[in-house]
Amino acid sequence: MDKQKSIVWFRKDLRVSDNPALAGAIKAGEVIPIYIFDEYGADYCKMGSHARWWLAKSLEALSESLEGGLHVFQGHSLEIIENIIKKTGATSVFWNRCYEPWIIKRDTKIKKTLLDQGINVQSFNAYLLWEPHEIVKTDGTAYKVFTPFFKNGCLKAQAPREIISKPKNINFCKMKLGISIVDLQLIDKKVDQRLSKYWQPGEKEAMKRLKYFIKHDLSDYKEGRNFPAKDVTSKLSPYLHFGEISPNQMWYLVQDLGYDYASRENIQTFLTELGWREFAYNVLFFNYDMPRKNLNKKFDKITWKYDKKLLQFWTQGQTGYPIIDAAMRELYHTGFMHNRMRMVVASFLVKNLMIHWHAGEDWFWDLLVDADLASNSFNWQWVAGCGYDATPYFRIFNPILQAKKFDSRAEYIRQWVPELAKLSVKYIFEPYNAPDHILTEAGIVLGKTYPKPMIDLAISSKCALELFKQSFKHS
Ligand SMILES: Cc1cc2nc3c(=O)[nH]c(=O)nc-3n(C[C@H](O)[C@H](O)[C@H](O)COP(=O)(O)OP(=O)(O)OC[C@H]3O[C@@H](n4cnc5c(N)ncnc54)[C@H](O)[C@@H]3O)c2cc1C
Repeated sequence: MDKQKSIVWFRKDLRVSDNPALAGAIKAGEVIPIYIFDEYGADYCKMGSHARWWLAKSLEALSESLEGGLHVFQGHSLEIIENIIKKTGATSVFWNRCYEPWIIKRDTKIKKTLLDQGINVQSFNAYLLWEPHEIVKTDGTAYKVFTPFFKNGCLKAQAPREIISKPKNINFCKMKLGISIVDLQLIDKKVDQRLSKYWQPGEKEAMKRLKYFIKHDLSDYKEGRNFPAKDVTSKLSPYLHFGEISPNQMWYLVQDLGYDYASRENIQTFLTELGWREFAYNVLFFNYDMPRKNLNKKFDKITWKYDKKLLQFWTQGQTGYPIIDAAMRELYHTGFMHNRMRMVVASFLVKNLMIHWHAGEDWFWDLLVDADLASNSFNWQWVAGCGYDATPYFRIFNPILQAKKFDSRAEYIRQWVPELAKLSVKYIFEPYNAPDHILTEAGIVLGKTYPKPMIDLAISSKCALELFKQSFKHS
């Protein structure tokens, strides 16, 4: 008798270890691993250029782990799955759930259609530590504040699913199906030149990074995570986003191995950061329009400026404020930006330039390798002040003070703004205040080799506060 064939539909779970859908299909018999590049219905959620690069590399790594057995497609997911079922005689489809509203909508339809056709469909949670719909307040409503969400909701709920080990043997259904990864045309040459210097996507690299982080950086995480030049954070966000590592692997490995290297405080701080990722997804689950609409409706009243030129200076790292420019250039060149720097540049855009947070969200979306619908929109709303448990509207990060505190030796600035490298720490944070002879000695001509400040910080903060106050007056 023919063995049962099962499709494993890979999506944001590009790994073979700790993969419940793959494990389920292996148990059922022969496996047909597929990936479908499908952005029908994605609208503004279509992948950015850097994320597309990551996806291509990640698919290559996954295909290698599957002994070249990954079948790749492009088009409407349902049509493609129905075709594969026809061609192969598969009787089951397994997948791990995604939590983007547009994907939930699509998948719900696909599941129903396949079930109606008598196909066995099974979906699993492999992306979050806790299912969003399970973490609600005792009265059944959604949490709006992080600490009770994490402490009373997550930590008092059932412990996250245990890790599933890497399958020893996969019985592949051997058939030629689909197109090649190259056919998806995900990689832009220039993007490849930039990003391949910094990253190696894939499951193996993710695990290597996690173990390195636990051994070398976790012990300094609580304090060190604030300093961009220290580089002590895990940099696992893109791997998590594409599912090359699961939050469960991070959650349990950090606890199982971490105590040999780091204190409880450092470990708890790291686990709490994973909690913020859960919170972002929880808030998105209960607010499908979070990426486009202010959670706090008071902010709808604000009339934002839309100064194209100012926005361009910001995106290009040419604002005249070295810490902002360093961060924006890091983003462009590496597809990544340190968390504190994300907060500083976001505050600058929204609260000094008075440009709507959507403009920043969109720019991040295109350039972050970890661009993630929940985390990106949640955090932009957090910085802007309109999100849940957000920083208050009147808290405006001062980029000079932030630089002096968190990059006191200006190592980060010197790395990304090399034209200022010769200035001492006395002047590098505010080159426009340096005497002429100091600038000349450092080879700097303000307005030529490095821009003059695009706005006045004090005046712009004052105007922003006034505008916020006026807008909220009658609400
Ligand atoms: C304006 C803005 C936009 C952001 N956009 C994204 C985004 O698109 N994708 C994304 O993954 N993160 C985003 N973040 C959150 C955070 O900056 C990154 O998750 C973090 O910098 C990733 O680096 P890491 O992996 O070294 O983090 P680590 O410090 O090693 O933390 C471990 C993991 O915890 C999670 N995490 C940490 N901080 C946060 C946070 N504030 N919110 C949600 N999860 C968190 C991440 O998954 C991260 O990989 C954004 C933050 C801001 C302020």
